[in-house]
Amino acid sequence: MTTPKLFWFRRDLRLEDNPGLHAAAETGGPVIPVFILDPETEALGAAHRWRLGAALEVFAETLSAAGSRLICRRGKASEVLQSLIEDTGATAVHWSRTYDPTGIARDTAVKAGLADAGVEAKSHAGHVLFEPWRVQTQQDEFYKVYTPFWKSVRDRDPGGPLSVPKLPAPETWPQGVDVAALDLGSDMRRGAAVVARYAKVGTAAAEAKLDAFMDGPLAAYGDDRDRLDRDGTSGLSDNLALGEISARQIWAGVRAAMEHGQKGAETYLKEIVWRDFAYHLLYHTPRIATENWRPEWDGFPWKSANDQAEAWRRGRTGEPVIDAAMRQLYVTGTMHNRARMLVASYLTKHLLIHWRVGLDWFADCLIDWDPASNAMGWQWAAGSGPDAAPYFRIFNPATQAEKFDPDGAYRRRYVAELSDDPGAQAQAFYAAIPERWDMSPNDTYPDGPLIDLKKGRERALAAYEDHRSRQSAA
Ligand code: FAD
Repeated sequence: MTTPKLFWFRRDLRLEDNPGLHAAAETGGPVIPVFILDPETEALGAAHRWRLGAALEVFAETLSAAGSRLICRRGKASEVLQSLIEDTGATAVHWSRTYDPTGIARDTAVKAGLADAGVEAKSHAGHVLFEPWRVQTQQDEFYKVYTPFWKSVRDRDPGGPLSVPKLPAPETWPQGVDVAALDLGSDMRRGAAVVARYAKVGTAAAEAKLDAFMDGPLAAYGDDRDRLDRDGTSGLSDNLALGEISARQIWAGVRAAMEHGQKGAETYLKEIVWRDFAYHLLYHTPRIATENWRPEWDGFPWKSANDQAEAWRRGRTGEPVIDAAMRQLYVTGTMHNRARMLVASYLTKHLLIHWRVGLDWFADCLIDWDPASNAMGWQWAAGSGPDAAPYFRIFNPATQAEKFDPDGAYRRRYVAELSDDPGAQAQAFYAAIPERWDMSPNDTYPDGPLIDLKKGRERALAAYEDHRSRQSAA
């Protein structure tokens, strides 16, 4: 019998359209699916870790139904893989590539260790439509602006989607622990039960979401995607973040619809390509995750976390649409894209608080946390990123709310104090938040906003002008 191979699952928890899994299966012999709770994964934010645990539970069942098994272990990836190789006699390890600096550093070290041990290490594409080095300008450089990036990939075929491969079982399975024993959700505490009501986990759920979206909201996506009060988007970001569905599966369906004249399809593909663009930037400029992408922003007098940041986190700024959005985050583990832009602009411009404060909070609270999209989104909103919103474009949350939540339905849905009869989501916020926040639906809404919007805007513009003139004088 051919020797077994290990397939190391990370952010690609699916059997469909998984090129690496396909390649491992095609070499013949048993394939042993592995998940490793390594220190890099333990360091993820509470909500995303909880969501990962939920994804693994479903995925382990999917593998069992296919006659296979998910072998879960905890430890440093290189050491766990070595011990699995000793236990199984595996001669190769396959995985899908990641493009974030932490993942790249880990995988490079693992690859070197495996090579030293004479074990084949094979990494594959699978997380994005087009790997970051496959899209280049005519000058062989990477793209820093989205529109030309989109134009260069719009008519390319990303390949796939591939069918589900057969995964022959080994004669004996190595030891592993149950997903539950990995205890991925514990830091979510009581919030887990609330967010679980809204999360749709696993490949089947993701495919059903895509079908429902294509049959319904897609046609009006161009207009509705910005409406806070409507379910106008696909809600696939958490599934995509963990690879429960591939970007290529989405591309194949929506692109075919576009060719049949489906309204909304091209706009939607553009959004999926924003996700690729984020990985393109993260791969080529990893500093985007931690440093101002534009160095001219270094030294800008952003404040570190303070009481106002805490009011922002708790949905108590007194600016209803900001508070609704921050509470949506706590209740559902996600936030509408328009709302993300508004809360990020408000934090970094009206409150002049560093974008990293917001980035970290999102990383802790988002079930769809994605290292590339989160970094790009925050730097875009702050003005410090490539192709970012210019600094003088400061969203006015009040006028944005009038435009994208004209009847106030979104604000009332999440902010109990704004409604005589708060609904389920508004109430759920109090069940999800830490008890030490000591908030209740009977609280009165803040008397006034943290900052007058006009004054906040003027202060931000003045800070920017001052920073620019100090820079040009230097
Ligand atoms: P849809 O409108 O249905 O779009 C489909 C898919 O396209 C999304 O699932 C997503 O994969 C991709 N997409 C859409 N908009 C964007 C965008 N602006 N940037 C990158 N990809 C996009 N997205 C994350 O997945 N994880 C994050 O951690 C994240 N953090 C963000 C932080 C900020 C400050 C901002 C402004 C945006 C962030 N986004 C993030 C992007 C975007 O808000 C979400 O992808 C979107 O709200 C998800 O909802 P949806 O699946 O219904 O999107």
